[in-house]
Amino acid sequence: MSASQRYRLRNPASGREIVIEAEPGEIYRDRENGEPMEVVGKMLPLAPSSSRLPWSVDNLRFCSWCGQLAQKDLNDCPTCGRRMGPLGPPAGDR
Ligand SMILES: [Zn+2]
Repeated sequence: MSASQRYRLRNPASGREIVIEAEPGEIYRDRENGEPMEVVGKMLPLAPSSSRLPWSVDNLRFCSWCGQLAQKDLNDCPTCGRRMGPLGPPAGDR
């Protein structure tokens, strides 16, 4: 069983960042110049999840049933399991 976890890696020299499904302990190198990348963060949501979106404000919405945060690419609320309605206007736009 391999639930892939996505990590954010950065090349300290160039500052370039990539997001890949990485295994802990492996060394990953920048595809362009072969420089080693360092892990700067683990991407949320943690695997396994039905959403591929990072857990950030831009990708979240409030469930109309329970008011908890849910990723926008999900149809069913991960908290209460109910089907959420169509997306409303972005928060702060009213
Ligand atoms: Zn809910």
